[in-house]
Amino acid sequence: MPSTPSIVWLRDDLRVADNPALSAAVDRGGPVVVLYLLDEESPGARPLGGASRWWLHGSLAALAAELADRGAHLTLRRGAAGTVIPQLVAESGAGAVYWNRRYGALREVDAELKSRLRADGLDVQSFGASLLFEPWTITTGAGDPYKVFTPFWRACLAGDDPRAPLQPPERIEGLAVASDDLDTWALLPTRPDWAAGLRAAWTPGEQGAHARLEHFVEHGLPLYHRRDEPGIEATSRLSPHLRFGELSPHQVWARLRGPLAPAAIANRPKFLSEIGWREFSYSILFHQPSIATENVRRDFDAFPWQAPDPAVLEAWRRGMTGIPLVDAGMRQLWTSGWMHNRVRMIVASLLTKNLLIDWRVGEAWFWDTLVDADEASNAASWQWVAGSGADAAPYFRVFNPVLQAERFDPDQAYVRQWVPELGTGAYPRPIVDLAASRTAALAAYEVVKAAK
Ligand code: FAD
Repeated sequence: MPSTPSIVWLRDDLRVADNPALSAAVDRGGPVVVLYLLDEESPGARPLGGASRWWLHGSLAALAAELADRGAHLTLRRGAAGTVIPQLVAESGAGAVYWNRRYGALREVDAELKSRLRADGLDVQSFGASLLFEPWTITTGAGDPYKVFTPFWRACLAGDDPRAPLQPPERIEGLAVASDDLDTWALLPTRPDWAAGLRAAWTPGEQGAHARLEHFVEHGLPLYHRRDEPGIEATSRLSPHLRFGELSPHQVWARLRGPLAPAAIANRPKFLSEIGWREFSYSILFHQPSIATENVRRDFDAFPWQAPDPAVLEAWRRGMTGIPLVDAGMRQLWTSGWMHNRVRMIVASLLTKNLLIDWRVGEAWFWDTLVDADEASNAASWQWVAGSGADAAPYFRVFNPVLQAERFDPDQAYVRQWVPELGTGAYPRPIVDLAASRTAALAAYEVVKAAK
């Protein structure tokens, strides 16, 4: 008897290679409906920011082409998963629904749907695809989640190696059902079209992701010991590709175990530990799905944040603070949808410590403007800088952007690229006195200490 159709519901895994849910559907036999659902309605769904919407459009277009090459279609639908998926099951006569897991608040939507569909007699399965180590498998001896990165990553590395990546299916027997037209989702900016810098910097999609990985392995990884210097391209810039799952961490891991130049081999552990920070962020999210809104350290609930002065906040957002390294970072973000990691820490420190503005305000701006805006890494990193997070930087570590620039951008390659008017009369004076505001930040922290 021919198999009934399967539905593969893609979310943060926009790839055909190393996609366990897709491979399982192909192996099951029968036609496959490959679905992407734009769900801004389910409880816990956070609408994507502008830069992420831009990325999503490109990624879905690339995925549709990959699927078409293999005989399948990409079906686009919009609405709450709890409504749309059962409808699609009825429409297509599907006997199976497969997906790869997610780890934040939306996993409750998945769990509820799984039990409903199973109760209707469907085969429903979820797979691990986005993380090297499932968060519930990495615990302390007492069975608790790790709160500190180093022992967490040590525990990850002490177990079995992550599984090898799966090959992409050569043929997928697609089942055509009604689909939205991607253009009607209006994910791309039109008036104004602010995405020119994004188009120049990125190629969303699986092929772009693999090209980026190869480029990094050859040119960036041998320089990765200089990863803190924003003026050189020593980091991978894989973050948006990993965020949208165009590339899996398993594929990155396997490539890093493959042929490498000696200078690259020396830098491999450090690079993999940064992938480990991504795993750690997801572990935090898994155990506290509210990390984008609630302090991990609850003593920070007492922190005396200041109401943002709109002009000051706008100067930070637009890269007009008069502090060159901060402005360079904020302009890099606005123009290209990405910012170098060290500079992210510095601009976040300025906002939360020198300006005493709540980390949630900064997190929201990054959410809107980053192409790699990630529900785990963005919130966890903001909390890390603010001091309220797991394994956070000690509070007194207020980054001094002037000293940081001297140390990590000594020839001003980065600052001059993004702030060409530096040294001319057109550049603003600093909006804040770094020394005085540092003292004020330390005083504000006394309130948290007292609340402990
Ligand atoms: P590489 O150095 O090449 O690292 C490889 C990969 O490891 C990255 O692509 C990323 O997936 C992961 N990674 C590296 N550093 C971290 C880290 N500190 N935490 C978690 N994962 C990491 N990263 C995001 O992916 N999305 C975000 O929304 C995000 N928001 C951030 C906000 C702040 C305030 C800060 C300080 C950091 C944030 N990061 C975020 C982490 C980090 O800055 C980026 O992952 C990194 O800059 C991406 O560049 P890359 O791919 O060249 O990194």
